[in-house]
Amino acid sequence: MTEKVIIIGSGPAGWASAIYSARAALQPLVFEGAITEENRLAGTLPLGQLALTTEVENYPGFPAGDLSAYLANAIAEDKRRLMAPPSKEGATGPELMELMRQQAVNFGTRIITEDIVDVDFNTQPFKLTASDGKIYESHAVIVATGARANYLGLPSEEKYKNRGVSACAVCDGALPRFRNRPLAVVGGGDSAVEEADYLSKFASTVYMIHRRDQLRASKIMAKRAMDNPKIQVLWNTTLAEVLGNDKDGVTGVRLQSTAGGPDVVKDVTGVFMAIGHTPNAAFLKNKLALTEKKYIRWTTPARTYTSVEGVFAAGDVADDYYRQAITAAGSGCMAALDAERWLAAKGL
Ligand code: NAP
Repeated sequence: MTEKVIIIGSGPAGWASAIYSARAALQPLVFEGAITEENRLAGTLPLGQLALTTEVENYPGFPAGDLSAYLANAIAEDKRRLMAPPSKEGATGPELMELMRQQAVNFGTRIITEDIVDVDFNTQPFKLTASDGKIYESHAVIVATGARANYLGLPSEEKYKNRGVSACAVCDGALPRFRNRPLAVVGGGDSAVEEADYLSKFASTVYMIHRRDQLRASKIMAKRAMDNPKIQVLWNTTLAEVLGNDKDGVTGVRLQSTAGGPDVVKDVTGVFMAIGHTPNAAFLKNKLALTEKKYIRWTTPARTYTSVEGVFAAGDVADDYYRQAITAAGSGCMAALDAERWLAAKGL
């Protein structure tokens, strides 16, 4: 069976594409990603990066308030069990993603919980190989695979992954090893502040290790870091080595000053990386044109067209600039409309 449109990815861009293409009677098929240990470690499980965050305070339509009654009847019960306790802060990332997924399902979207591992864009219909080995055919494809957290690439960081080194405070922050102990967050952007702020609920102190003398984070987030008595920013500092042992995992960090001087050791039981993201475009094996930074290249201003006619891209996999939930959802909507018009023009 040849699909009209296959959507790869299950973040805001993927679900917005699905909602719009389902309502346009394109019967979209979404590959939401496989649930594997490899994807968990890489931060590429279904529902994307928002499922790894806490409160989402800037997604229009979700002001602070108690959403529990709404969530209780909007989301299927088996999905609700996975959610955080009701919050007065508005929607959490996982809640927002479950709401989007549910909305796509409500309009008839079909979902397969596998990755797409290879693509053939030389034929029409296109052929996509899934992680279960099956090949799927589709006239149009929307790539919305998002981005994943970066690591520094230190051998010691790799050694202690899962044993104190993490890139997701929400996933791992509540573990006993992090409670009432000093922790480190590397980075100076919004994600670093968000991680540090979240961890400060559990930790005794959170050191933010930042390589410059000024945060990259937005003003409101930077103020949040400065106002939090448990967060201590270590300016002009880089992480040289994660210290630890086989029995305890992470026990400390060795820090270098960018201004010279001796290295400093801080005792910490956890190190959280928040140093930006890499787009999840490797599975395309360069069969779409990429930018210098390896994001999918949008080939026409204000359109979601890619270098292959009939393949559209949406969200963080193509956007290294805005990278917000709302812009990802917006470009997902655009991709669905672009795909719908392209299919109609081709008579498909
Ligand atoms: P980001 O804004 O790119 O910040 C990355 C941080 O990591 C920067 O401070 C950078 O330092 C540092 N860094 C990068 N490579 C490094 C290296 N090799 N060694 C040491 N430090 C390194 O990424 P982000 O914080 O993940 O944010 C991504 C996007 O999501 C942004 O658009 C952000 O606004 C958005 N976001 C928003 C919210 C929110 O509004 N609540 C929350 C999270 C994310 P330099 O500053 O020196 O470059």
